[in-house]
Amino acid sequence: MTAPLFAALFLTALLLSTALKLWLAQRQLSHVQTHREKVPDAFSAQVELVAHQKAADYTRAKTQLSMFSALFEAGLLLAFTLGGGLQLLSDWSAVTFSSSLAQGLALIVSVLILTSILEIPFNLYSTFVIEARYGFNKMTLRLYVLDALKGMLLGAALGLPLLLGILWLMEKMGGNWWLYVWAVWVSFSLLLLFIYPSFIAPLFNKFQPLEDQSLKARIEALLSKCGFTAEGLFVMDGSKRSTHGNAYFTGFGKTKRIVFFDTLIARLTPDEIDAVLAHELGHFKRRHVIKRIALTFAVSLGFLWLLAQLMHAGWFYAGLGVTTQTTAMALLLFFMTLPVFSFLLQPFSSAYSRKHEFEADAYAAQQTSAAHLATALVKLYQDNAATLTPDPLYSTFYSSHPPAMVRISRLQSL
Ligand SMILES: [Zn+2]
Repeated sequence: MTAPLFAALFLTALLLSTALKLWLAQRQLSHVQTHREKVPDAFSAQVELVAHQKAADYTRAKTQLSMFSALFEAGLLLAFTLGGGLQLLSDWSAVTFSSSLAQGLALIVSVLILTSILEIPFNLYSTFVIEARYGFNKMTLRLYVLDALKGMLLGAALGLPLLLGILWLMEKMGGNWWLYVWAVWVSFSLLLLFIYPSFIAPLFNKFQPLEDQSLKARIEALLSKCGFTAEGLFVMDGSKRSTHGNAYFTGFGKTKRIVFFDTLIARLTPDEIDAVLAHELGHFKRRHVIKRIALTFAVSLGFLWLLAQLMHAGWFYAGLGVTTQTTAMALLLFFMTLPVFSFLLQPFSSAYSRKHEFEADAYAAQQTSAAHLATALVKLYQDNAATLTPDPLYSTFYSSHPPAMVRISRLQSL
């Protein structure tokens, strides 16, 4: 491999992945628009035309923003790499700090800070224009700033020591550094999973034990029927930020909790809550969570090995417009350009996730009732203004959940 050849490969991959993103988004826009005038027959009993059209318009607004954002990200990546941005920051860190660890840390942190600042307008527009226009946003500007500050402090407290450790291992551990870094990364991720429910999530939301005694009794009956033990049932004040509803599990082993958004409890009947909970239990019972985590760890081991091969290749740096060959630079270049090369893997990851959704639905149908899960899902689609008519190719590519029509008809056939 030579530098010019790698530069050409990178530019081609960037061009193709960006074009593919825009083309898929365009397909989604026109498909949703074509089906805007009529609620699909399968849903006409439960969904009003007004709600269907709101979903279409909301989807259009979000898809258009994603197109701008795809273009912006491609431009930013070019500016950082071949445009010389990374080299400029690297030169600055080299004259500002003396130790190589501090220089590496300064380079990576400055890129992270710059990227986050440049992405603020997209976040603001999404929250305060799109989400607000469709009645979902409950966030005030004050809460937004507070969230951002907390996120930054938390990121610094957890991320800086991790990053420093990784850079140190990369420099000191010789050819097998990637094994050490992987071990540290895996331990760190597991630690986060353990501390998330009790230490991190409460920084952003209030969690109160589920107080509705009759609902609690129902849920506990369902849990014991499914052979499941949880540390507690909690209601989260999701309505603090948004009217979107959800239910989820967090934690592992002894720290396992079930969390319902207050918005979900307010909206669904007890039968429907049971069915939604059974779906979530299905993810645990079918070991989806463990499988996902194991897959992520395996893939990250592969990526780190690949980085270990690339970081000594001059063409890797030169092909991306950089002359400084340091470990921090290698780490940055690798993880900034990886999405460009791995974009075509997205449909496989989505298909894997949809397979799990079908399995969890089947479990819920078996433990509770398919009909209740179906009506709950339609309510959730409607409340989240999720389109019932996505473009098939778009959803094959991106959707972690099966399209409404496919999912409901599968439930009805169970
Ligand atoms: Zn699910």
